[in-house]
Amino acid sequence: MTPLWGGIEAGGTKFVCAVGSGPDDLRAEARFPTTTPEETIGRAIRFFQQHQGLGRRPSPNGWRPSPNSEPLTAIGIASFGPVDPNPDSSTFGHITTTPKPGWANTDVAGAVRRALGVAVGFDTDVNAAALGEHRWGAAQGVDTFVYLTIGTGIGGGGMVNGQLIHGLIHPEMGHILVPHDWDSDPYAGSCPYHGDCLEGLATGPALEKRWGQRGEMLPADHPAWPLEAKYLALGLVNIICILSPQRIIMGGGVMQQPVLFPLVRREVQELLHGYLQAPAILEQIDDYIVPPGLGDRAGVLGAIALAQQV
Ligand code: ADP
Ligand code: ZN
Repeated sequence: MTPLWGGIEAGGTKFVCAVGSGPDDLRAEARFPTTTPEETIGRAIRFFQQHQGLGRRPSPNGWRPSPNSEPLTAIGIASFGPVDPNPDSSTFGHITTTPKPGWANTDVAGAVRRALGVAVGFDTDVNAAALGEHRWGAAQGVDTFVYLTIGTGIGGGGMVNGQLIHGLIHPEMGHILVPHDWDSDPYAGSCPYHGDCLEGLATGPALEKRWGQRGEMLPADHPAWPLEAKYLALGLVNIICILSPQRIIMGGGVMQQPVLFPLVRREVQELLHGYLQAPAILEQIDDYIVPPGLGDRAGVLGAIALAQQV
């Protein structure tokens, strides 16, 4: 009997739930918008109730096995944050100080564990995606790397020496401070805490507020993209100098703009100015700054990977 796991990608915009054991074995999946905690977590719980304890199915002769029959071994939750990922803390598994209305201090892991009676793994959405990419995607074979998402927010997670990074709380790579030239870019930034931190300057909503159009509507030759690439590259250079990652994976809606990857790679090389004598950066940057190998399934597969290490 193949063990079966559940994964929840708990995003600020949508939740994705899945049951399976890996990218080639996803047996059920559901996506729904993030509304109130009660409604959204309730929908996730109902999804798993339909897919666990399915060891048996009612039939006229009693219970019989169903094709989808294994009970869930554990559920992993990859959550938007900030979160408390420390298993020794009394608020483990909570979303903590999020500005998202209604979601501050929400015990996501506890609600799922109590309702379903299974062990729960819990981490940030980006640490989970990093774990998934390490197991099945673009970070196979490296042990120190970063996974960033550039979407409604900017988040970063990753591994150092094969361990997901937690430390004090967890990384908040979106909120690093980057130089902001107010003359060429008078946009003040959208971060409610810092104004023009990286997230304030370079998320999808920041693009939209600065240019008056959603990112997906801005043409490839629009001046939005060199500026966006500049900010992202400034962020990456800081991360490269601090963590010495062997690879950087960039996902999220904004990275769907095809000109961004080449622009970001060139900016990173220019900003580093030959200082880091690493072939990965000097010669093979196309394999250094890369999209997720798991595409838009990195989050939910990462959640399944979290469940597998509970
Ligand atoms: P979330 O961060 O909420 O999970 P996404 O990663 O899909 O969601 O990011 C959504 C953001 O990405 C929106 O601000 C949207 O305008 C922007 N976006 C989506 N597609 C594109 C695209 N092709 N080019 C640029 N920006 C995009
Ligand atoms: Zn900020």
